[in-house]
Amino acid sequence: MTERISSPSRTMEIIKKYGFDFKKGYGQNFLIDYNILTGIAESAGVSKDDCVLEIGPGIGSLTQVLAENSKKVIAVEIDNKLIPILADTLGDYENIKVINQDILKTNIDALINEECDGKPIKVVANLPYYITTPIILGLLEKQYKIESITVMIQKEVAERISATEKSKDYGALSIAVQYYCDVNYDFTVSAGCFIPQPKVDSSVITLTPTKEKKYKTNNEKLFFKIVKCSFGQRRKTLVNSIANQSGLAISKEQIASVLEGMGLDARVRGEALSITQFCELADRIEKMI
Ligand code: SAM
Repeated sequence: MTERISSPSRTMEIIKKYGFDFKKGYGQNFLIDYNILTGIAESAGVSKDDCVLEIGPGIGSLTQVLAENSKKVIAVEIDNKLIPILADTLGDYENIKVINQDILKTNIDALINEECDGKPIKVVANLPYYITTPIILGLLEKQYKIESITVMIQKEVAERISATEKSKDYGALSIAVQYYCDVNYDFTVSAGCFIPQPKVDSSVITLTPTKEKKYKTNNEKLFFKIVKCSFGQRRKTLVNSIANQSGLAISKEQIASVLEGMGLDARVRGEALSITQFCELADRIEKMI
């Protein structure tokens, strides 16, 4: 078995050999616990048939585990200082392609077609925390051919993504993700499993885009607009949030009557509505504007 890149001594050896400076701005916290890495690969259900997209390989600790368990890994890394290091640490693996790019500017459709013969990919990553939300929402909203997304993120963000209505963590992010996916909270990871240690605990979650849409709305754009403004100021009632912030030509009285028509109190707040109810609210509002 090839030496584990993730062992604390090997990681430090690589860092010293290349004089590598961790860049906080790129969210560089590298995993040094092999059990966590295999746990991520297992949560993703990675098998020898799978083509995996890894976002931010760092020095290659997770990439190594993924390459050993999948058909191919495409690893997109923004930091050009890590590219020669990856060429060294992953040199023994023929099924890895490293691309020096910003994931937010990467043409993922082209990657899937060119590198994976158009077959749906699995996304697996220990994400840079400063751009967790744009990465996840970008992957979902653009509706790429993705089988699943298994990512390590800040625990607090994982809780917001998994939350259901009437809980304190429920909000626009929960709805934006759950609209497209089934969400599974896989496990929690303590800060001690990284070099350098982040200030927060982390969690691994798996998002599985549903084949059929779970929620139906006649106007997705309006639905997301209403969801966004409903949680803009959590303490405001839906009537006030939608009338004041949505930019829609609708009065407080009209919104109150829509809510009453749905059997809801006119003083209700966004956190009380399920995703299905938000769909119904958007459809009813659409008929009035
Ligand atoms: N996968 C490695 C591990 O688990 O040890 C490193 C994970 S570290 C949390 C995040 C990685 O994402 C870093 O290597 C960082 O340079 C990279 N990164 C940050 N922003 C990025 C972006 N916009 N596109 C691609 N990679 C990015």
